Formats: sequence, C-alpha cells, structure tokens
Amino acid sequence: MAREIPYVKELRFEYGQPAVAAPNVRRVVAKNPSPFTHAGSGTYLIGQGRVAVIDPGPAQAEHVDALLDALALNGEQVAHILVTHTHLDHSGAAPLLAAKTGAPTFGFGPHAQGRHQPEDKVEAGADWEFKPQRLLAEGDVLEGDGYTLTALHTPGHCSNHLCFSLREGNTLFTGDHVMGWATSVIVPPDGDMGDYLESLTRLLSRDDARYLPTHGPVIDDPKPLVAAYIEHRREREAQLLAALGGGLRRIPDVVEAIYKDVPSYLHPAAARSIFAHVLDLHARGRIGTDAALSLDAEYYRT
Ligand SMILES: [Zn+2]
Repeated sequence: MAREIPYVKELRFEYGQPAVAAPNVRRVVAKNPSPFTHAGSGTYLIGQGRVAVIDPGPAQAEHVDALLDALALNGEQVAHILVTHTHLDHSGAAPLLAAKTGAPTFGFGPHAQGRHQPEDKVEAGADWEFKPQRLLAEGDVLEGDGYTLTALHTPGHCSNHLCFSLREGNTLFTGDHVMGWATSVIVPPDGDMGDYLESLTRLLSRDDARYLPTHGPVIDDPKPLVAAYIEHRREREAQLLAALGGGLRRIPDVVEAIYKDVPSYLHPAAARSIFAHVLDLHARGRIGTDAALSLDAEYYRT
C-alpha cells in the first residue's frame, strides 16, 4: 500500500537567534508556532555583507528586530528581500523590513483570487496587502555578496509561489511548496492541485543538494520525499475516484469514507483538499457534474 512519507521534523533552534542552516545561509525562526507553521516561520539570510532575505515572516516587530540584530552583529545590510508567496506568515513582515533597511521587496505578484470562484472568503492567512516592489518571473536571477539566486515559479500551494535556487551550495528554498515535516495545504480557490503536482514533478528533474523550507528543518535527501508526496496525492485521487465509482456523489460523503480514521473536526479541511482534487480531475475530464463546481455539488465518474 502506501509508501511511508520520509518526514524530517526535528529542528534545533532558539527563537530570534541566527543559526547556520546551510552553506552561505543563516536562519532566524519567528515565534509563530502552529499546526501549519511547525515551530514558526524560518527567515533566511543569504550571503555575507550585503545579504538577501527570503521570507521575512509574520508581521511581528519582535521578529523584525531579531533580524536587524542578526545583521547588526556583523555590520551587514540587506540588498534584496524575497517572498516565496503571499501568506501572512511569509510576507507579513516584508514591508516593515523594507522600511527599516531600505531594501526593495521581490515576489511573483500580489495575492491572486485563483481560477475558481471562492467557496467562502476564508482563505486562512492570505496576505492581501503585500505588493512586491519588483516582480520576479521564472528564471529571473538576483546576485549579491556570495549569492546567486534564481526564481522558479512553482504554483500549487499558492498561484504566485516561487522557490529560489541558490547556486553557492546548490540549495533550493522551497517556501511552502515542499516541507519536510508535513504535506502542503492545497486549498482552492488559489491553491491548485494540478499545478501543485506539476510543480512537484518538476523538482524531480533537478539536482538540488538540499531544500530549505520556510517551516521546519533542512531536507538533505529531497527527491524521495518529493516522490512520496506525489504518490500520496495520487493515492488520494485513486480513493476519490473509487468512492465515486462506488456510488458516492457528494464531497462530505467521500470525506467520511476516505478519512474515517481522521477525527471529524479535521473533515472540513479534508473536504477542501478533496475539492482541490475534484477540480483537477474535472479539468482532466475524469469527473463530471451537472452543477457548478463547488463543495456541495454532486459528482460522478466520466
Ligand atoms: Zn503558505
């Protein structure tokens, strides 16, 4: 049956204190622990002297002060502020850090609505305020003291999600696209399962030595993890198709069947994830409906 996902969970750190995370990279963890953020958001400082910052983290004055203290230790400045995507635990502190350092902010673009109409306006953590001062597209390169960073557009968790490849040390900053300790949350409207699986598959053709996600520890052997994540989603997809084939029509009933071992308070979140699969399978012609695509519609296998 299912291949075990080779999770890596243990992170040694002290809140607010910079620590080496990889060659040419330091990490400062913000104090915003939660079931979705592990111990908190890891903000990365890359290079030496005039550095790049990836994912400034949540809008906490305390965290921004910790970043400024880390830079002041060696009399460093910030040249680039990069954001992997527009969720508050990643981009929230970007404007404050930009104001304090004078460095410009970079990202794919502001938060987007996604291709599908929202079921509800609750998209936990979306940062509707942040607008990157400079836009990055696939393949764009930023250079500084000891770093060459290339942007990879990896939509799925968020349509504007970027990973950043650091040439010096062959490290990939994966944001929330790949985390070592948990699967990524893919929630429509802006989350897109088809895009996510494509963006994961793309990583398998690369040769990164390690990943640094924004939450959790370094991933030193990334490809088996990525392969397991793809397999995990394909299994869910097969379960969904089997449930529809067995006569179930509605997402809540499918969730009851597939997630019977999961506590029911998690079923609404599971329903959103299944809805992401439904949208993907519908786009691929594998699932049909006579109604508008929604969490409440009835579906059938084609
Ligand atoms: Zn996120």
